[in-house]
Amino acid sequence: MHLEYEPLIRALDEALNAHLAWGRKVFRTALMHTAPAADVLDPAAHEICQLGLWLRSHSGMLQGINAHKAKALEAAHHRMHDAIRAVMEQAQAGQTVPAAQMDAFEQAQDELMHLLTALKARLITDAIRHDPLTGLPLRYGLEHDFSDFQKACRRNQTFFYLAMVDADHFKEVNDRLGHQVGDQALRHLARTLRKNMRGNEPIYRFGGEEFVVLLQTHSTEDARRAAQRLVDAVRAALLPLEQKEPLGLSVTIGLTQVQDEDDLSSALQRADQAMYAGKQAGRNRFVLRNAPAQPPLAERAG
Ligand code: GH3
Ligand code: MG
Ligand code: MG
Repeated sequence: MHLEYEPLIRALDEALNAHLAWGRKVFRTALMHTAPAADVLDPAAHEICQLGLWLRSHSGMLQGINAHKAKALEAAHHRMHDAIRAVMEQAQAGQTVPAAQMDAFEQAQDELMHLLTALKARLITDAIRHDPLTGLPLRYGLEHDFSDFQKACRRNQTFFYLAMVDADHFKEVNDRLGHQVGDQALRHLARTLRKNMRGNEPIYRFGGEEFVVLLQTHSTEDARRAAQRLVDAVRAALLPLEQKEPLGLSVTIGLTQVQDEDDLSSALQRADQAMYAGKQAGRNRFVLRNAPAQPPLAERAG
């Protein structure tokens, strides 16, 4: 899921502050014996308060991050409103509020605050793991994802290929058209690659103008086709520029099959060597380099 983290975190902060302001207002109302507003007494108060509006407008995003926690958040908020309504109705009627009712309110409020702060921590962690320019994950998660992918391929009896994708002559793009167009070109490149991969194949911004792609295929031929498809797609996707000729880009891809014995670093090393060979051979292509074949078991033992 590609999220704009900064505005999201800011909006969450605003919703949290609105909730705290709402709490202060309720407190004043109770002590000053003034009439509570609709966002306290209305049976649908949880839908009309500011936090409720925020939860509703972000429900898709919340579901996407963690469906279970999204549900718990909504439920705690609803419960908190039901509890405060009961408390305030008692107080309004001049009755002493039973301790159990106050407990119910405080428990729901604690759970709500706990879930909201955990959500904020999660968004901040996700934000620093994603590249703000392209929206792609950075290499932080790659080590972990690599071994998960390796296990999944073993389980599914599929082939695991790793591709290192490097933009060709990118320094020249910056030198000729400026860094801003360079940035625009990187965003365009990331989008083109993403569009031409399967949903379950992750892509990372590995470094400056380098991307790493994990592929799960049924044959070597499939992997070759996937790499060629990326090379062709980048070549075909011209980037329109204002008052200038559209910009054509190309990439060189180093492709390698990941073996059971491989870890991330050995796979990356081979993919990098393959990519370098592709640069030497003239760029705008992929080169496949696999690990040397293992000698037969008897020979290894000897
Ligand atoms: P090659 O075909 O051999 O890969 O040539 P190259 O020019 O792409 O390779 P080189 O490593 O010499 O240059 C990479 C360039 O990518 C230099 C750097 O300024 C540019 N670059 C890296 N990250 C960014 C970025 O975030 N924005 C912009 N605009 N440029 C970037
Ligand atoms: Mg490079
Ligand atoms: Mg390059």
